[in-house]
Amino acid sequence: MLQFLASSLLFSIFKLSKITLSLLLNYNTKINNSIKDIQNNLLDWFSVNGRHWIPWKLKIDGSIPKLGEKISPYQIWIAEVMLQQTQIKVVVPYWREWMSSFPTLLDLVNADQQNILLRWQGMGYYSRAKRIHQSSKLLINTIGKTQISDPSCWPVELSFWMSLPGIGRNTAGSIISSAFDLPVPILDGNVKRILSRLIASTKPPLKDEKRLWSISNNLISKDRPRDFNQALMDLGSKVCTINNPLCQSCPLQKNCFSYVYYDPIDFPKKNMRKTIPIQEIGIGLIFNKKGELLIDQRLENSSMGGMWEFPGGKKEPHETIQETIKREIVEELGIVVNVGKQLLSFEHSYSHKKLHLTVHFCEWVSGKPKPITSQKLLWVDPSRLCDFPFPAANKKIISELHKYLSN
Ligand code: SF4
Repeated sequence: MLQFLASSLLFSIFKLSKITLSLLLNYNTKINNSIKDIQNNLLDWFSVNGRHWIPWKLKIDGSIPKLGEKISPYQIWIAEVMLQQTQIKVVVPYWREWMSSFPTLLDLVNADQQNILLRWQGMGYYSRAKRIHQSSKLLINTIGKTQISDPSCWPVELSFWMSLPGIGRNTAGSIISSAFDLPVPILDGNVKRILSRLIASTKPPLKDEKRLWSISNNLISKDRPRDFNQALMDLGSKVCTINNPLCQSCPLQKNCFSYVYYDPIDFPKKNMRKTIPIQEIGIGLIFNKKGELLIDQRLENSSMGGMWEFPGGKKEPHETIQETIKREIVEELGIVVNVGKQLLSFEHSYSHKKLHLTVHFCEWVSGKPKPITSQKLLWVDPSRLCDFPFPAANKKIISELHKYLSN
């Protein structure tokens, strides 16, 4: 009874004075006990319910690593970068394909960038693939060619991993804790949601990051850091989900302020929604007399640099889509075309914008194509289009074109 009163009092203090869990975690012995509680409850739950099958978290022979045992930082690093903005079930086949194409760091260093983009094709955010390639060269300079298969020779410092292009604190923490079983915290979307609910944060996670990092750092188990971080991610994926948290089967139920005092679904608090702009894009499919199609390669320093695409661009407000295609082709390639019939029209969404693409066949009238706004032009037989890395929106065009040509 006394214990119940004591913890009720602590909860009330929390509510009334808005003392944060991070402060309590640091300064209150009663709640320090609950850090151990949270760790034990979560790790017990993980032993039974965790995703112990994730291939990059296993040893080369497929077995689960022992406590403190190091596993391949290469395989974990690739997976963690793939997981930025992408779910595990989508990443697994890409990761397997990648590991069979570039089984070691040295294979990656020596790989051709076009081949890397082809392996990445379909996952989007292509700059991540290029940054992995850049990072591979920095890593091999640090580790040395002959040492790459020994995880003990890989860097373990957070600052080193965060200095690599495209690696933030969460990705670096996940690589270090997973590969080396070291107590480095993580704060991905799942963990932000769980922690925001545990402390019933009144701020959206983006505005509360400092505090959430501090809590993640305080909570991580020093004995089983790899399992603890994975347990948090698994809990977020299977129990503390966005729309339907399964609090009745949650191991952290009694440590969770939003469950005890509020409705967990009201947490985390949301940011103001931004309206996503829609851009109208006109695209031209230009054939030559041999039936080959003109494609161009984006400039290296542009978004999706190095990828191939069909010529076209953004519609101006006063134009029809046919006028857009005609103008864009003059500007991009220096040739004049007649815009013919439409192949397809569809929408494609990115996280920050939505495109409405309209694709027309074009007849080449005059001029010699030049790569004015791209790095290279190629005439290719439509059957060879799959040999080139294209952004996801263009894949739909290729598939419709193949259907059209086979009819
Ligand atoms: S009790 Fe509910 S809201 Fe709290 S951590 Fe568990 S699943 Fe999430």
